[in-house]
Amino acid sequence: MNIYGIKRVDLEDYFIKQGEKKFKALQVYEWLYQHRVNSFFSMTNIKKEWQEQLSHDFSMVRIKIKKKQEDKLSKKYLFLLADSNYVEAVLMEHDYGLSICVSSEVGCNMGCAFCESGRLKKVRNLEAYEMVEQILLVEEDIKERISSVVIMGIGEPFDNYENVMDFIKIINDAKGIAIGARHITISTCGIVPKIQELAKEELQVNLAISLHAPTNELRNRLMPVNKAYSLDLLMGTIKEYIQITNRRVTIEYVMLNGVNDSDECAHTLARLIKGMNVYVNLIPYNETNHMEFKRSSKEQVMHFYDILKKHGLSVTIRKEFGRNIDAACGQLRSKEVKV
Ligand code: SAH
Repeated sequence: MNIYGIKRVDLEDYFIKQGEKKFKALQVYEWLYQHRVNSFFSMTNIKKEWQEQLSHDFSMVRIKIKKKQEDKLSKKYLFLLADSNYVEAVLMEHDYGLSICVSSEVGCNMGCAFCESGRLKKVRNLEAYEMVEQILLVEEDIKERISSVVIMGIGEPFDNYENVMDFIKIINDAKGIAIGARHITISTCGIVPKIQELAKEELQVNLAISLHAPTNELRNRLMPVNKAYSLDLLMGTIKEYIQITNRRVTIEYVMLNGVNDSDECAHTLARLIKGMNVYVNLIPYNETNHMEFKRSSKEQVMHFYDILKKHGLSVTIRKEFGRNIDAACGQLRSKEVKV
């Protein structure tokens, strides 16, 4: 097991089972996440025998930064994993702090028609430690702490539910990287049973739903997941989620020219979500070489925004980051992995 994929409770169990105090787990966590040491032998308040035992039982192997591209407000990282796979993360500088968009899988099986990550298909899940290390490596690189995390990079987090939950619990731990749950966002294409499961977790994390289309007909074309979990089922599940968690949900809507950006789409979308505790985030599309989709014009995005506003909805337009550094989902990996 890699130590960066171990929750503190599990590390406590590990020590307790061997007749030690659970307090040792806290000490190890402090070395890992406060002092950021990269060897068990640097944990100077842990006895030599335990340093040896830990290094025997756990690995500390790190993923590696293979490439970095940056512009003024964002940095894109391509990571090389131990098995030679690649994933990406993007660091963004907001006026409220730094946020990072992390990957949850190597590739993705959801097959959204407009998405580069899906074009390359899923190779495997990411382990919790591989998600934790994306944050550790970027923080080490920039020598600053990151304040919020969005799980919106390559992959579908709800197709790797257990590892993503472990990841969240590790980074949310007050003695870990200590990122507040309200500063963590999971974005899903709409895997209904996992939305229901998340509702029961009693975590204060944010949920974002990649909706992208207000009718089954259009959504089926753009997002194959809609054939498994239809729009009606999805919307009903989001309503239940809001009822159980009392938390506002984000509706993501990527603006595709001539596809889902008509006035009619805006009105239909407004009717679909009216009265729900949600807000809509309109996403400018990042064009990629492999897809025929084009971004909606600025004017059309504004017009769409105005229609939703007139219906009384809360709407924002996503600020663009990294358009010049291939920061759209999966673009950097896609250049590295030739298919
Ligand atoms: N699988 C999850 C999270 C990863 S995708 C999900 O579907 O939500 C993160 C977001 O980026 C999704 O809303 C996705 O639809 C969107 N996206 C994918 N390709 C994009 C592109 N080229 N430009 C803008 N947004 C894109």
